Amino acid sequence: MSSVDIRRSLDLLVTDIATRLMGADATTMVSVTEGVLAELLAFFEVDHTCLRYNDHNIHATVLVAECPVRPVKPVPDPLGVIYFADADDAFRASETRTFPYFGRPRGEFPEYEERVLAGAGWPEVSFVSAPLVSAGIPTGNVTLTKSSDRHWSDDEVNSLKAIAALFAQLQGRIEAEERLRHIAAHDDLTGLSNRRALLEYMEHRLKPGQPGPVAALFIDLDRLKALNDFLGHAAGDQFIRALAKRLRDQTDPRDMIARLGGDEFVIVPAVPLTASDAQREAERIKRFFGERVVVGGEKVSRSVSIGVAVGIPGETSVSDVLRQADQAVLAAKSAGGNGIVTFSDEMRAQHALRDDIELHLRHAVESDSLLLHYQPEVDLRTGKILAVEALVRWEHPTRGLLYPGMFIQVAEATNLAGELGRWVIREACRQLAEWRRKGLASDIVLRINVSPVQLVSLDFVASVDKVLKEFGLDGASVCLEITEHVVVQDLTRTRITLEGLKKIGVQVAIDDFGTGYSSLSHLKALTVDALKIDLGFVQRLGQDADDLAIVKSIVGLANSFGLALVAEGVETEIAARTLLELGCHRAQGFLISRPVPPARVEELFAAGSIPIEALQG
Ligand code: C2E
Ligand code: CA
Ligand code: CA
Repeated sequence: MSSVDIRRSLDLLVTDIATRLMGADATTMVSVTEGVLAELLAFFEVDHTCLRYNDHNIHATVLVAECPVRPVKPVPDPLGVIYFADADDAFRASETRTFPYFGRPRGEFPEYEERVLAGAGWPEVSFVSAPLVSAGIPTGNVTLTKSSDRHWSDDEVNSLKAIAALFAQLQGRIEAEERLRHIAAHDDLTGLSNRRALLEYMEHRLKPGQPGPVAALFIDLDRLKALNDFLGHAAGDQFIRALAKRLRDQTDPRDMIARLGGDEFVIVPAVPLTASDAQREAERIKRFFGERVVVGGEKVSRSVSIGVAVGIPGETSVSDVLRQADQAVLAAKSAGGNGIVTFSDEMRAQHALRDDIELHLRHAVESDSLLLHYQPEVDLRTGKILAVEALVRWEHPTRGLLYPGMFIQVAEATNLAGELGRWVIREACRQLAEWRRKGLASDIVLRINVSPVQLVSLDFVASVDKVLKEFGLDGASVCLEITEHVVVQDLTRTRITLEGLKKIGVQVAIDDFGTGYSSLSHLKALTVDALKIDLGFVQRLGQDADDLAIVKSIVGLANSFGLALVAEGVETEIAARTLLELGCHRAQGFLISRPVPPARVEELFAAGSIPIEALQG
């Protein structure tokens, strides 16, 4: 071949390799490279070709692909990872050399001798190594080796340089892609996996035929907000990073650890775990998680709540496992935090009930399966009925009569509270008007419970006013009960609503008083008419000295603010007597009457009072 022909065929080789490498990505990179190496092997008639990358972090050169692939490789492969420190000169050179270098059996081509590695022993074989260079740094090399001697022409060496440059390009492109992938799959604060990576991983683990059960541990720091408020967000971030590192260090490196944002982490252990194994792992994590971390010079620690759930590959979906772990951690938190809860069959049943309720509640509000029972409130001294409290019930198609404890929260969580509340107010008012038409309940106050959602809705006062007008009732016949928690949560909004209610003459009582944190200043700021002492304190009156003290102080409070006071949950004679002694006369409770259907209330109204035998004589 003439030198022109040789050059042309070298150009064709480079062009062909450029085309092949252009099509490669992270997944096909090794196989494409092997193809290119085979092409080089055949073209240059050598015995072995390979591509190696430099890992400057660990100071080593790492085999990426070779041709021919050695059929049996020793473990560990002595040609796999070669640390520069232990390497012979040819390998060591690749750490720093940025231009091609050669090795040749002793002495046959003197013109290359000065280019043979300084100080190198004369190799048995001949080779040429073309470094991959990126930003002036050698990032790897393509090496061609022949077991006999071979001369490399300048044209050949130039082509190899071009080919090495193509490999360097590919290497850079794949690294950039991997960086992007890493960013897309990781949380930037902690470097842990993110939600997307977690979902992908769990999807794989829960495929049919994968080993199971697959456990998910949902970790939630208790009261991280307080830490942020106290030390600042930078310190909060530092704290989270320290905890993330601790998690990574103290778990199996193969475990999936994801941060879902905020202070929520999910661990999916790499090995299959039963629920009780997973619970044990959660206990271990809880222990090391709770240890102190130094942040901004302060030693801080936060307890954690952990929810555990396990899924069976092929049976449980990813979203089921995560939802169950989430529900378990919520249960752990609402039990006061610093605990572990494993998702149980009982919780499953509870949530099934909840889902079912959610499904049917809207229909219940729209159809007439909701009903009201009324519980009388009397003057303990005479048994005279002073008021009735409307309490909602639901005649569920399959589950029978449901009490509000089963569905009010669901209603509040699903935006149905507003509708349900409107229904209750309208129905209760309609009922009162009907009684009045029958000549009953003329001086009775109707008590209606309202949910927080209703209170903050802007047209609440107007809608109450409308219902009152519709049934020809005056505001003073109605007393709305709001729980103390609501009052505390949104004082400004609550105040506006309460003032509006005052204008239309409607009374307001604070329900469950004593369980929240209403302070005197709140009471002063709000225009309320009555307090209802939470039944928890009343039930144990006469048995519990603390409760007696609390009720006493509530009586004092009501007196000094001129508020009416009602004790609810009067179940025992001793409680009733104690209330009388303390000067609290208005009472409601099972001792007097349970909540009853309207027809029964009518009978009680007709009698006018409820004799309380226990208190007589
Ligand atoms: P609440 O307003 O504190 O109502 C009193 C609850 O205590 C009623 O339960 C009543 O049956 C019960 N109770 C009355 N006397 C006694 C007693 O002596 N001992 C015991 N152990 N319990 C007694 P109920 O009807 O299950 O209602 C529970 C809660 O559901 C109510 O507590 C109220 O907060 C809420 N609720 C009821 N109806 C409605 C409503 O129409 N709308 C809203 N938003 N909430 C309602
Ligand atoms: Ca109430
Ligand atoms: Ca109450």
